[in-house]
Amino acid sequence: MDLFQFCRELPKVELHAHLNGSLSKSTMLLLKRLNADSGIKDETNTFMDEFVMGAGDTRSLSENPENLIISRLIISINRTMVTAECDAITDLAIEYHKKYPDIVVGIELSGNPIVGEFQNFLPALTRARDAGLKVSLHCGEVRNPKEVLDMINFKPERLGHGVCIHPKFGGTQETWQALCNSLIPVELCLTSNVNTKSVSGYESHHFKELYEAGIPVIINTDDKGVFATSLSQEYMLCAETFHLEKEQIARLALSACQYIFDTECRDTVKTKVLEFMNKHYICSY
Ligand SMILES: [Zn+2]
Repeated sequence: MDLFQFCRELPKVELHAHLNGSLSKSTMLLLKRLNADSGIKDETNTFMDEFVMGAGDTRSLSENPENLIISRLIISINRTMVTAECDAITDLAIEYHKKYPDIVVGIELSGNPIVGEFQNFLPALTRARDAGLKVSLHCGEVRNPKEVLDMINFKPERLGHGVCIHPKFGGTQETWQALCNSLIPVELCLTSNVNTKSVSGYESHHFKELYEAGIPVIINTDDKGVFATSLSQEYMLCAETFHLEKEQIARLALSACQYIFDTECRDTVKTKVLEFMNKHYICSY
C-alpha cells in the first residue's frame, strides 16, 4: 500500500479545524447550488447558513451506523473581541455545554495573534474552564515569549501551533523549557504554517523539534478549505518531509486519541486506530 493510501485509510483525529475555514471548494459549490435562489452573499448571513448546513452534514455522518466521522464543537473566542463580546460567547459556550455536553466540549482562543492581550481573556477562559469546558489556546504564532509563558502557566489542555516556543523559531530557552516541563500537547498545522509564512517551508517546520523532544503533537489541517488540504494529505506531508515510517505515522494518530476533549470519544476512536494497526501488523505498544 502506498503512503497516501495508508494515510487515507488510517483512522485520524483532527483536533484543530476552524469551521469557517474548513469548507472545501466542492462543498462551497454545492452550497451555492442549494442556495441558488438566494445566492451566496456575505451580507446575507450566508456564513451562518453554511455553518448550519456544514454542521448538519457532519451530524448526519456522525449518526450513521458506521460512525464514519465523529465530531465535537469547540467554541472560539477571537482575540479581536472586546470584553462584552467575549463574555457573551463564554456565556453561550457554558449554556450549550450544559445542554449538550456531548457536543460542545471546549473553548479556545484564536484570531489575529498581534491583537489583544492574553491576560484580558483570562477571566472568561477561567470561567469556562470552571464550568467544565476544556481549553485550547493558539500559542506562539508570533514572537511573544511573555505571552507564551503566561499561556503555558495557565495549563490549557492543548496549545495550537506553538511556533515561537523553541529558541530556533523565536522562542526563548525559558519558553522551550516551560513547554518541555509541561508536556502540553501541541496541535500542529504544517500547510497552514507554511502558507501563512509562520515557517519558511515544510522542512523547517517545528514538528521536528517538538517530536524529537517528546512533546505530544497532533497533526491537523487548521483550515482545510482555505489551504486546500486534507488531514490525510497533512499526515502524508509530515511523513514524507520528516521521513517517518508508517508505524510512526500510525502512532501519531494513536497518540492523538488521548487528547480528544470528549473522554467518551477517546476509546471509540482509539479502538478504530488499533484495529487499523493490527490489520497492518503494526505493533501498538
Ligand atoms: Zn487555528
